[in-house]
Amino acid sequence: MEFIDLKSQYRAMRSEINSRIQAVLEHGQYILGPEVRDLEQRLAAYANSRHCVTVASGTEALLIALMAHGIGPGDEVITTPFSFVATAEVIVLVGARPVFVDVEPDTANLDATLLDAAISERTKAIMPVGLYGQPADMDEISAIAARRGPIAVIEDAAQSFGASYHGRRSGALSAMGCTSFFPSKPLGCYGDGGAIFTDDATLAQACSEIRVHGQSARYLHTRIGVGGRMDTLQCAVLLGKLTRFDWEIARRIELGNRYGEAIRASGARVGLLAVRPGRSCVWAQYTVLVENRDAVQDKLKRAGIPTAVHYPRPLHRQPAYEPLCDARPMPVSESLASQVISLPMSADLTESQQDAVVAALARATS
Ligand SMILES: *Cc1c(COP(=O)(O)O)cnc(C)c1O
Repeated sequence: MEFIDLKSQYRAMRSEINSRIQAVLEHGQYILGPEVRDLEQRLAAYANSRHCVTVASGTEALLIALMAHGIGPGDEVITTPFSFVATAEVIVLVGARPVFVDVEPDTANLDATLLDAAISERTKAIMPVGLYGQPADMDEISAIAARRGPIAVIEDAAQSFGASYHGRRSGALSAMGCTSFFPSKPLGCYGDGGAIFTDDATLAQACSEIRVHGQSARYLHTRIGVGGRMDTLQCAVLLGKLTRFDWEIARRIELGNRYGEAIRASGARVGLLAVRPGRSCVWAQYTVLVENRDAVQDKLKRAGIPTAVHYPRPLHRQPAYEPLCDARPMPVSESLASQVISLPMSADLTESQQDAVVAALARATS
């Protein structure tokens, strides 16, 4: 069994993907070719966002988003310590200071009730993450940002693209959203890729200039930028993958529900995360909580079940970040970091594979 089954996914869409890759090889516009614009239009329509700018990766999307907002030295950006490192990394890269706010114990997402106390006159942005595939409480976070602002809310939808939140789509739940097309994400290409979503034409223009070295016209550099384009080939791969994306998202949600029911019925001693009413979770990882994680992981490995830990050490406890933040304790993140374990998950996971995982999990936790 694979932790994420990308090969079955490729086999299901092989001709669609191959012909689109072939078309790029033939037309030869490898950088900013027609597939780039085509993908941006389709993703904007999917997310119901006015603008979409594709970029080189999810990390680049977050970095460019901060740059487009002019965030830099002297500024503070609030985010969760319980995320992939990129969320905090980009804050430091633009010269701002990351301010961590602890997460909710049952969703592992930023706890909006702790935001007010963390906001200062230096706060320029809040970056909530839709961890494991469920959007954070974006309306509440945006309301607090508006009341205490102007503070930009930049959603990190790297894991939650495809999820919904009260009828809207993750990536388009605040003034700006970013996602990643890393192969293992819910919508993944065959290399690196990412996208930025916004309804604001000025910010969209800024993002598209920053991704090509701050160019506003050929060799006219009106702002500081980066080399941050997404390859035409990777855009072509995603155009192929979009043909099955709605089915995949529905299947992920179904498999997530099925995991929950089967784990409850199995009597496994496992804690389940909550999905809030009005939201869906696309389970970029199907993550549960266990005691004695190392032993459980080892037993699962011996039963042939691959697992992973997202994430074993919260960001405020990482050696590179500890000196940069005030290192206040984040008890919920620290407790989750010691208990979380992610089980095999992808739209192509079969029900019999899933049953085998749950049976092994029940044995490993008994
Ligand atoms: C994957 C991920 C990123 C970074 O995306 P890349 O495309 O790998 O650069 C950022 N934030 C979160 C929450 C992620 O899961």
